Amino acid sequence: MSDTLEYDVLVIGGGPAGSTAGRFSARNGARTLVIEKRQEIGSPVRCGEGISLSWLDELDIKDVGPWVSRYMNGARIYSPSGYVLEIVEEYAGDEVGCVIERDLFDKDMARRAAMEGADFMVKTAATGLLWKDGCVVGARVKQLGREFDIKAKIIIGADGFESQVGRWAGIYTAIPPKDIMTCFQYRMTGIDVDPDYTHFFMGSGAPGGYAWIFPKDERTANVGLGVQFSRLDGSVTPKDYLDRFIAGHEGLKNGEAIDMVAGAVSVAHPPERSVADGIMLVGDASRVVDPITGGGIINGMKQARMAGELAAEAVDQGRSDHEYLKRYEKRWRERFENKLWRNYMAKEKAMQLDDVMYDKIVDALSELDLRKVRVETILEGVRRKYPELIKEFEDMM
Ligand SMILES: Cc1cc2nc3c(=O)[nH]c(=O)nc-3n(C[C@H](O)[C@H](O)[C@H](O)COP(=O)(O)OP(=O)(O)OC[C@H]3O[C@@H](n4cnc5c(N)ncnc54)[C@H](O)[C@@H]3O)c2cc1C
Repeated sequence: MSDTLEYDVLVIGGGPAGSTAGRFSARNGARTLVIEKRQEIGSPVRCGEGISLSWLDELDIKDVGPWVSRYMNGARIYSPSGYVLEIVEEYAGDEVGCVIERDLFDKDMARRAAMEGADFMVKTAATGLLWKDGCVVGARVKQLGREFDIKAKIIIGADGFESQVGRWAGIYTAIPPKDIMTCFQYRMTGIDVDPDYTHFFMGSGAPGGYAWIFPKDERTANVGLGVQFSRLDGSVTPKDYLDRFIAGHEGLKNGEAIDMVAGAVSVAHPPERSVADGIMLVGDASRVVDPITGGGIINGMKQARMAGELAAEAVDQGRSDHEYLKRYEKRWRERFENKLWRNYMAKEKAMQLDDVMYDKIVDALSELDLRKVRVETILEGVRRKYPELIKEFEDMM
């Protein structure tokens, strides 16, 4: 292999966003390479594995792969005192339709990209960017101890939550501690919970976050919890919170943990920019994670399609300047930005609620028919039951 490789498009990171960007770039005629620093795409898994299936058409996926672990009927949201709000799958958002095997999912997304012509290199980490006249023109990479350059007309940074690529490119990607959710999760077996629903638990048991149970089969589930990073003072860890939650849950306390993962999720507002000369960021690297749920797989993949398509377009036009690449930014903002900001504001509000408020809100909402729900219906429901809460609620809406 020569010391320098050349491609039209170089995607750094082989997660779902990177593979999707690579797939649509290759589909549209650009010679595309995806590099992944880990030796195996999709592994180890750091994910609750809850997603909807509402995005398949948008990403032109006709058959679900071997990665569906279990289909869900809907979601249940529990307040601290046990009020329950049930939401059917259709209305439950991007994290609820099914629980997946994330390693198989990521591999399947990579397979689809490869089938459409993208090349892949695993165990190949970008260690820096290559520049020419202020424009990013490639990356320095390290593969099994060997270092070489990969030049490309367009670089797509898909390197996840801690995106170094964004920082190297001078795009501000730092996340304030109050907008980081620190998570801990076990896969538990021998448990007894309704296996056809995802379960979300609000309140002070998970300060600034929530606990979740995402069933994988009748007796097995991902059981996890996220805590706002800025509320951790070192005396109680996310694992401690999770262990307490499990000990206090009748259906979980006799189960066994068969694996554990720790990780962090951004619950920040959308970034100020996601492009610079020669480079675009996608997925977690560009913070399109839903600030309420911390779910980022689907938004990231939808956004990555836009980046892949625009990358191929830019190569075709011989453009790599940020003015041209801003078309990508405009497209994804039109699609996601309002919702991301709205959910960010709602998350900020939710962080101030105490257990009593959560009880009242879940109680008030649980009496509504959420199939017909509109903002006015919710406000009316809360006004009827807890008129004193209406101001808080109007703010949240
Ligand atoms: C505990 C936990 C639970 C979660 N649960 C859910 C959930 O239930 N549902 C949901 O939708 N989302 C969930 N998320 C969020 C979800 O995992 C992310 O939003 C999603 O993985 C983002 O995809 P991505 O492709 O942008 O980044 P990633 O999946 O993080 O992929 C980035 C890839 O880039 C590679 N990489 C990094 N640096 C380099 C480099 N220098 N060179 C080459 N490769 C590099 C990494 O190895 C990685 O494979 C959860 C996250 C955590 C931590």
